[in-house]
Amino acid sequence: MIKKLILLLVCGIVLLLGIVLGRTLMVKSKQLEVSAIPHIDLDEVVVSRFSEAITYKTISWQDPSKMDSSEFFTFHDFLAEEFPLMDSLLEKQYINELTILYKWQGTDNGLKPVLFMAHQDVVPVDSAKLDLWEAPPFSGEVSEEYIHGRGTQDVKCQLMALHEAAECLLAKGYQPKRTMYFSFGHDEEIGGAEGAKKVAEYLEGNNIELEFLVDEGGTVLSGVVPGVSQPVAVVGTAEKGYVTFELVVNDKGGHSSMPPKETAIGILSNAVARLEANPYPMTITGVTGQLFDYIGPEMSFPMKMAMANRWLFKRLVINELSKGNSARATMHTTTAPTIIHAGTKENVLPTTAKAIVNHRILPGHTIEYLLQRDREVIDDERVEVKKHTMHEGTEASPVADINSESFKILQTTISEVFPDVIVAPFLDVGGTDSKHFHGVAKNVYRFQPIRMDSEALQRIHGNNEKHGIDNYKESINFFIRLIENSTSR
Ligand SMILES: [Zn+2]
Repeated sequence: MIKKLILLLVCGIVLLLGIVLGRTLMVKSKQLEVSAIPHIDLDEVVVSRFSEAITYKTISWQDPSKMDSSEFFTFHDFLAEEFPLMDSLLEKQYINELTILYKWQGTDNGLKPVLFMAHQDVVPVDSAKLDLWEAPPFSGEVSEEYIHGRGTQDVKCQLMALHEAAECLLAKGYQPKRTMYFSFGHDEEIGGAEGAKKVAEYLEGNNIELEFLVDEGGTVLSGVVPGVSQPVAVVGTAEKGYVTFELVVNDKGGHSSMPPKETAIGILSNAVARLEANPYPMTITGVTGQLFDYIGPEMSFPMKMAMANRWLFKRLVINELSKGNSARATMHTTTAPTIIHAGTKENVLPTTAKAIVNHRILPGHTIEYLLQRDREVIDDERVEVKKHTMHEGTEASPVADINSESFKILQTTISEVFPDVIVAPFLDVGGTDSKHFHGVAKNVYRFQPIRMDSEALQRIHGNNEKHGIDNYKESINFFIRLIENSTSR
């Protein structure tokens, strides 16, 4: 009997091993076989123009009254002067005075237009941390390898590279078949409600449906994706939603010499601790599953085996990847307590305690579901959980179709211009202006052709933002090719 059982067990293990190995060996690369294209040798003036673009303090402040429109107006003058063909040959309009929308008419009206996006605004600089910058943040200083300053990565690089690409093609007499738009918002860093959102409304109001659009988002990552030695160009095919909840506890207050067993602060702290102790569950399906389908075949054998057999190694994959904050964020709805307020005096019990909790929502979850789940997890009627009034919240985006012609165009272009990288779809965990366009475009992509390692990722919105000169030139080549590939057919 025991012999039989052992035999059965051995057979089972052999069978399982066979399935696991078979599935691993059957995995095929999802990378396209395309030839690299020669890069256009660009004049050094592209660097000096990029450098000057950084000197305009087009800052988005949380407090809108601090905004200085004149910086945007002089930036517009600079763009019109430096890119005379775009200025004179394309239809240009300003939306809400500060956002720029260009239209480049194609010859075939039967083709749906394409939209390329970036934003003009940048985040403020922490004035207490100026010593961490290699060059002053609005100097646009050019060193041997880098262009320095706020906006070099996020995202004047994209705005300027798109201008350079369009101007270059106009100079060559390029005539697109497909109409294209360029939209450069002015308030992306504070949600885009007055800029990109209005552009989307303008398109919708004029019944303009887009074939696809490309906005900032994913980048070319080196040494960031575990288990892959080549750089990975991650194309955002969806972005997470955003909502902020307020947790409020009201209490009678009183003298601190005779406190109740639980104070407003204690009750609130408990609620926050419960949320942190009960994170939203991890998943490796959806867009993150698609990412694994694309990177899995390029990984070393053990990782490849785990990726090809996620039905068996789900736990292992999740445990391995959830060690890093950024990878973990792609696998679940995140919970981040960001502000806590209570009390006014050391010997007085507070009558109110409030906490602010920010969630980034995985596609598939909704704000309503989060509200309900947080209340259940806290499970304390004394804690009021409600949506914070400061931000109305954004649901997670729909997911673009990776089997579409437009994804293929993007993947082809990346492989042509960056032959050393592999391409993969991914879930953008931040927010972009593109979230406003789902009513006018089925396929929305978030990708900026800039190379990043983990150190460079830290500099976005941080200190010492800078961008490699060679990489900037690569990105201009990328957009020239992307425009050709998207609008010539
Ligand atoms: Zn940005």
